[in-house]
Amino acid sequence: MLDKVVIANRGEIALRILRACHELGIKTVAIHSSADRDLMHVRLADESVCIGPSSPAESYLNIPAILSAAEVTDAVAVHPGYGFLSENADFAERVEKSGFIFVGPAPDTIRLMGDKLSAIKTMKRAGIPCVPGSDAVLGDDMSDNIKVVRDIGYPVILKASGGGGGRGMRVVHAEAALPSAIGLTRREALSAFKNDSVYAEKFLERPRHVEFQVMADMHGNAVCLGERDCSMQRRHQKVIEEAPAPGIDQETRNMMSQRCVDACREINYRGAGTFEFLYQDGEFYFIEMNTRVQVEHPVTELVTGIDIVREQLSIAAGNRLSFAQADVVLRGHAIECRINAEDPVLFRPSPGTIELFHPPGGPGVRVDSHVYSGYIVPPYYDSLIAKLLVHGDSRRTALARMSNALSEIVVDGIDTNIPLHRDLIDDAAFAAGGTDIHYLEGKTT
Ligand code: ADP
Repeated sequence: MLDKVVIANRGEIALRILRACHELGIKTVAIHSSADRDLMHVRLADESVCIGPSSPAESYLNIPAILSAAEVTDAVAVHPGYGFLSENADFAERVEKSGFIFVGPAPDTIRLMGDKLSAIKTMKRAGIPCVPGSDAVLGDDMSDNIKVVRDIGYPVILKASGGGGGRGMRVVHAEAALPSAIGLTRREALSAFKNDSVYAEKFLERPRHVEFQVMADMHGNAVCLGERDCSMQRRHQKVIEEAPAPGIDQETRNMMSQRCVDACREINYRGAGTFEFLYQDGEFYFIEMNTRVQVEHPVTELVTGIDIVREQLSIAAGNRLSFAQADVVLRGHAIECRINAEDPVLFRPSPGTIELFHPPGGPGVRVDSHVYSGYIVPPYYDSLIAKLLVHGDSRRTALARMSNALSEIVVDGIDTNIPLHRDLIDDAAFAAGGTDIHYLEGKTT
């Protein structure tokens, strides 16, 4: 097993990684910004290093500072978590060139899948169905672009090939709006992702977001841990996730799982990863692959009983997967609500002091959170303060448990989206299962 790991992240995922490390007897190094000295995992880590000021560019995205922290603490590996540098192929490469293990896939795999267009091309070769689209970057010749998009048919969604995090996307409903929309998306893509490649794909009107979790080791073994439904979204950001996806039968799950496992072999994948699909009228359309652990990984952990972060660390140490596909048995139903520090109506971030934090409990309740009473939520980072999860033997039980948990949880001092979650859990359409990705926006606007 690994001896000492640098946790190159913050917040709940840093604590999640620390817990897995300590369970495995791995020593931990917390790296943090000067604004994050009071983070829970910084207190619990074996060592901690302040790597820079509050601004992410100077701390959590500061590659030389992270590598020096790994060197001075004699760490052997770096776990990037999600967000920040987790899907930055150059970071993974520099970690490896500096003699450390990167807990994730090979840098070239991250590069291949990080560019959405190259990912789509690769997946098509591997036999994975994709959304009909331009299949290539839109060029400078507008009359060509107009023709390409006319063939796809309106509405289309323009996407930055290097985009992520729900940014760099724009829906176009009519030809008249296409030239200016391409220009705008390109400029945004250049400033946000330093890459102005933009492509077009058919905008699906009422799809669900269904994604498949995979894990692969360095010995050619790959498995699929089933799917999650993450259709409850706002501005392309997930708000509630669940596993399994309502209405997906075992035969379809097996077929898609096998395709994802085959695709992992095709790209020589290692570690944890997610194939994201849109699902409409019984068909799956690949949109992208995430080459890292995801925020919503615990819903899969709850229904499979498999610890994804432990397994990531074990794979990075060179071990074989600790289970085979036949050992993956889905049991019951799990739901996650992302609790954000934000105004529940206007969705503005709401940093500040949490005067009282009271997590809910009882059978089948899990809270992944770094916050505590007296903790000050800084304004510089993502607004996720807790993941509230429940597991039950059926979706109905899980919904009832989530409803209880949401009535028990107390977060005083700042605004949160807990009132929104309470509404959604009681919502008849959500309770019935299978609402599409536009449902929440339709409800809140
Ligand atoms: P990101 O990398 O920024 O997360 P994705 O390509 O994964 O971007 O898309 C994020 C979300 O945007 C999806 O979950 C879905 O809600 C919406 N979306 C993406 N592509 C389409 C499409 N072709 N049609 C309709 N909605 C889409």
